[in-house]
Parts: sequence; structure tokens; C-alpha cells
Amino acid sequence: METMETDIIIRHQVVGVFQVNVYLVVCPETKKAVIIDPGGEGERVVRMVEEEGAEPIYILNTHGHADHVLENKALKERFSIPVCMHEADDEFFSRKKVRTQSQKELGLPPPGPADRRLKDGDVLEVGKLRIEVLHTPGHSPGSVCFHVRGNLFSGDTLFVGDVGRTDLVGGSLETLLKSLEEKVIVLPGETIVRPGHDYGETPTSTLAWEMRENPYITDFILAK
Ligand SMILES: [Zn+2]
Ligand SMILES: [Zn+2]
Repeated sequence: METMETDIIIRHQVVGVFQVNVYLVVCPETKKAVIIDPGGEGERVVRMVEEEGAEPIYILNTHGHADHVLENKALKERFSIPVCMHEADDEFFSRKKVRTQSQKELGLPPPGPADRRLKDGDVLEVGKLRIEVLHTPGHSPGSVCFHVRGNLFSGDTLFVGDVGRTDLVGGSLETLLKSLEEKVIVLPGETIVRPGHDYGETPTSTLAWEMRENPYITDFILAK
């Protein structure tokens, strides 16, 4: 019997009070891996890593909101790996005023400094995987999506049938729509959308589906 070749391993768990999707993305050939948005319950993330026999080499944050970064420090120490965040959020969430406001809005402590600052267009080599960084500001100034082998880890920029809040400090709906228009809907329609929270009818979707069904895309971008 022929088995289909798996070119990427993706696991996820829903963690923390904000029910964030933390993802483990593994290169099947080398077992090198990244942890995306460890927002809580670090031990469950560690278990997932162990079950896969994976070797994490980066912690990636789609943005700096507390619910996506809470376990950065613990997992960074556990695996001795760097925390990576877009430069704009690393800078933004280091400002005292922003930290105070974000703490008030989310009721959780904002992130510590990143070890590596990401920029738009950066490519992270993880075994044979190439993870591309797309800067998609709007939900926060340094929000990003991670694009790898037909998968888009969209954080709080794009949910299934919805988009992220833009009323938190540093948010802008206009900027978010521009990001979707210029960086996201230009990707192939079969791209699988893997959001930061499971707020939709299904846990994942495709960009083709979003372009038909997501009112922010149909009404504010495509109908322009
Ligand atoms: Zn957020
Ligand atoms: Zn979130």
C-alpha cells in the first residue's frame, strides 16, 4: 500500500483563558519545529513536542498580545530557543504607556523583549521548511502571518469568517483591511487559514472560502 507523503506536521492545542490556538509546526524529515503563539498551559505544549519527537528551534509570536505570548519565557528556558516577534510589536509593547494600557485591556502582562526581531519577507529555515513572515498590521502594529507550505498561520489578523479586533491599543481596521488586501488574499485560494482563535463555524478554512464568505473581505475589499 502506498502512503501519502506528509510534507508538514501541524499540531495544535487550545490554551489559556483566552482559548488561543498554539501550533506546533514540524518538518517531518528533520523533526525541527517551531511553536507558534504559546499563550498558556506550557506543559501541554511540551507534551505535544514530546509526542511528536520534535526539536523546537524557534518560538514565533503572531503578535504581542498577552494571550499569545504568556508561555514565551517558560518555553524559551525549557528548550533554550529564541523568541521571535515582528520588530514593530517588539518596540510597541516595550513602551511604558502601551504596556500599562495593554495590561488593563487584557488583564494579563504584556510580553518581555523578543530575542529576534522579524521583518516582512523574512524566511525562517526550519529543517526543510521555509516559513515566510508576512507583516500584516492592523490588529496590532506588528501583527504577522506565517506562511509555510500552503498554510497561513493568521494569528488575530484573520479568523474563519471574521477579522481580529481593532479597538485595542495600536489597532486600526483600515490598516488591517489593507494588510488583507495586499498580503493575504493575493495568496493561492487553496491556502489553509489557521487562525489564532477558533471563532468561526470551522477551526480552519481556505482563502478561497474567505473570499466568498468573509464579510470584511467581500464587503470592504472586493466590493470597493
Ligand atoms: Zn490579539
Ligand atoms: Zn488573541
